[in-house]
Amino acid sequence: MNSRRNFIGKLGAGMAGLFMVSRVKDVYAINNQGRLPVVVSTWNHGLKANDAAWDVLRQGGYALDAAEAAARITEADPEVITVGYGGLPDANGKVTLDACIMDERGNAGSVAFLEHIKHPISVARLVMEKTPHVMLTGKGALDFALSSGFKKENLITPLAKKAWKKWRKEDRTFKPVINIENEILPNHDTIGILALDAQGRLCGACTTSGMAYKLHGRVGDSPIIGAGLYVDGEIGGAVATGSGELVMKTLGSFLVVELMRNGMSPEEACKEAVHRIAAKIEGYEQHQIGYLALDIHGNIGSFSMQPGFEYALKNDLVSDLVKVNSYMR
Ligand code: ASP
Repeated sequence: MNSRRNFIGKLGAGMAGLFMVSRVKDVYAINNQGRLPVVVSTWNHGLKANDAAWDVLRQGGYALDAAEAAARITEADPEVITVGYGGLPDANGKVTLDACIMDERGNAGSVAFLEHIKHPISVARLVMEKTPHVMLTGKGALDFALSSGFKKENLITPLAKKAWKKWRKEDRTFKPVINIENEILPNHDTIGILALDAQGRLCGACTTSGMAYKLHGRVGDSPIIGAGLYVDGEIGGAVATGSGELVMKTLGSFLVVELMRNGMSPEEACKEAVHRIAAKIEGYEQHQIGYLALDIHGNIGSFSMQPGFEYALKNDLVSDLVKVNSYMR
C-alpha cells in the first residue's frame, strides 16, 4: 500500500521536533526559492504524480497539462485509497469522486459526487473548457462525462470493498470518522497539485474520493473553487487537504491566496489559514488540515493542523518529500 508512513523516517526520537524544523528550512532554502519550473503536491503519493507533471514541465509544457497529468496518475492508482480508482467508498458502498482544476487566467472547472469515471480531473477540465459552467454534479456530471467519451467503470477495488464491509459491520452509527495521522488506514488524503511552468503560468488541480464512509451525497472541499483549490495567476495558488468541512467553512485556499496578495509568504499564509480554523471552529483539535501554497515566483509554503502532513516537491534539482510544521504538537 502507498502509505505516507513509508516516508523518509530519519528522525531520531528525542531530536524529532528540532530536526523536523531544520529539515523543512534546509530543503526550502536550498532547493525551492524561485526555481521555475516547479511542481508541488500533497502527501507522499505526490511523488509519483510530480514525476508525471515534470515530464510536461521540463519540456517547456503548460502548467495546466502538468497538473492534470499529475492528478491522473493518482486517480488511476488502486493503491491510493483516497483518490479515484481504489478510493474508499461512502457509507452506502459507492465510490463518489470530487475534483477541480484552475488555470492562471482564473478559469475553473469542477465535478462533484461523480460516480464510475476514473479521471474526474479530466472531466473537470472539460467542464472548464467546453461549457459555460464551473461545476457539474452527480448524474449530470456523469452524463456529461459519458457524452464526452469517458468510459463507465467500476471503481471499487476488492481492498476498498473489504474495508467498507468491515467498517459497516463495526460502526453501526454510520458516522464518518476523520482520522488524524496515525497507524490506521488513512481515510482522507486528497491530492492537490500546484504547477508553475517555465513561462510563469501557475495552475492547480485537486482530486479525491473524499472522506471515507461519508454520508451518500456528501461533497467536501476538494471540488469547491476557493476551498480545496484556488489560483490567482498574478499572485499564487493554494490547495487544501484534510477535513473538508473545516476548509469549506473558512474558504481556506482562497484565504491563503488573499493573504499572499496582502504580503504574506506562502508559509505565513498557510499558517494563518490554519490559525483561523483554530480560532473559529470548535473541535478543530480532532481534525487534520493541510495547506500547501506556491506563489508565482516559485516560493513554496505549507502548514498543517496536526503533525504528519507532508508534500512532494519536484524541480530541476530535487524530487523530495517535505515534512510540514503544524499548529498542534
Ligand atoms: N478534503 C477531503 C475531503 O474532505 C479529504 C482529504 O483531503 O483528505 O473530502
